[in-house]
Amino acid sequence: MEPITSSKTAGRKVRLGVMGGTFDPIHHGHLVAASEVAAKFGLDEVVFVPTGQPWQKQHKQVSPSEHRYLMTVVATASNPRFTVSRVDIDRPGVTYTIDTLRDLREQRPEAELFFITGADALEQIMSWKDVDELWGLAHFVGVTRPGHELPDLGRQDVSLLEIPALAISSTDCRNRVRDHQPVWYLVPDGVVQHIAKHKLYLETSDAENA
Ligand code: ATP
Repeated sequence: MEPITSSKTAGRKVRLGVMGGTFDPIHHGHLVAASEVAAKFGLDEVVFVPTGQPWQKQHKQVSPSEHRYLMTVVATASNPRFTVSRVDIDRPGVTYTIDTLRDLREQRPEAELFFITGADALEQIMSWKDVDELWGLAHFVGVTRPGHELPDLGRQDVSLLEIPALAISSTDCRNRVRDHQPVWYLVPDGVVQHIAKHKLYLETSDAENA
């Protein structure tokens, strides 16, 4: 579905945020990051892109992509500026951000891309595939995340933004479900219900999968 656009966008490039993640499950840390960057950078839309098999997590078991996609749809449904893309989960093989951005550039030639990333991911960015090409495809916005330093990469195409600190991680949410502890208010209500309905995370543990 097309996102709502406004007369503000007429005559200028659409400013499109890209929030990539495993979203296993999506939580309020992801949603606040996207919302804060959208407000600060005047984004018209933020597209959430659940990964296929993430290259950084190849040794870990990740939930089936359709579950992660559906939870992302449920979590973002109430925000008219948030959309979800299947571009990574429909591409066979391991997901690299360079492919995500190349594909989105092709699909949305009218858009200027702002790739949103937490401090932990930004710390790793220099090791990402084809990093030299990455800078030309999008502007990068690194957001603060509890427990991680925001690195200053000294590049003009990377902005840093302080956001409200939410010490939430998908790993902790999965472990809580496994341990029969609540995830209410850490993830959107619909995501709690999706997890319960499909009995996700009851048997997995990161200790087992590490
Ligand atoms: P996991 O615990 O399984 O590694 P995660 O909670 O880090 O997952 P991802 O889906 O890997 O979630 O993260 C997607 C993006 O969102 C990354 O750029 C990550 O840095 C960012 N992010 C995740 N949680 C937060 C948070 N609480 N605050 C700010 N950014 C976050």
